[in-house]
Amino acid sequence: MPLPITSGHPEDDIVEQYAMNRLAAENLAAFEEHLLVCHWCQIRVTEFDDFIPRLGAGVRSLQLNKPGLLRRPLMKNVFISHGGPSITHVRAVGDLLSALGLTPVVSIDMPNLGLSLQDKVRKCMRICRSAVVLATPDEEAPAQTARTRPNVEHEIGMLQTMPNIGNRIVYMKDRKVQFPSNYREKAWIPFDRNLISESFVPLVKELRSFRILDAAVVGRMTALLVKRDLRQEQGWTLPGLGDADELGSVDTK
Ligand SMILES: [Zn+2]
Repeated sequence: MPLPITSGHPEDDIVEQYAMNRLAAENLAAFEEHLLVCHWCQIRVTEFDDFIPRLGAGVRSLQLNKPGLLRRPLMKNVFISHGGPSITHVRAVGDLLSALGLTPVVSIDMPNLGLSLQDKVRKCMRICRSAVVLATPDEEAPAQTARTRPNVEHEIGMLQTMPNIGNRIVYMKDRKVQFPSNYREKAWIPFDRNLISESFVPLVKELRSFRILDAAVVGRMTALLVKRDLRQEQGWTLPGLGDADELGSVDTK
């Protein structure tokens, strides 16, 4: 599932004008349409955002009228933190996010662009407004351990310092994983890597609380679930899912 990167990216001055909230009408609509399907240009916008604080106060005040954190094309991006060679459960979560109208962002799907792994991960996180952590045991550690992969622990630390993510992080861990005491206080959603769909209901409930789901999408999905046995048709199910009111949603438009 490679990140959508289109050819024919807009010029730097268009990106700059967008970052400064100077695009309007058709130009704004055209650029946001491109932005929705181009994670590379999303990264370009966030890099310009990083540069703006160094510009003059007049320029900054223009941007403050509409902070970069609220940009519509980036609201739906959800960073997925995971470790280890097995990614079937990562794809299953990505499919669920897509079905909910969200966009999963997985750094291994991103072209390297000559970046270090750390830079690549950071850039992927910067274009997201929420994150799902999938902590699994470190199976490649020299001795058997209940700790998760070091990169996952590191990415949790990075996510917690990102203002664009805030506290919109869903923590999920394999039942075998144990964390150092400073991590234990969090509410972890337990999962089994081979039965990840059994943990989808608490995951959806967390996402709902982030106010990033469209009411229409949630309604359609709920209707689908009520009518069909998804376990049979698609191999996964959302047990215990109630009606649309129970699932809840917020229209972000
Ligand atoms: Zn582009």
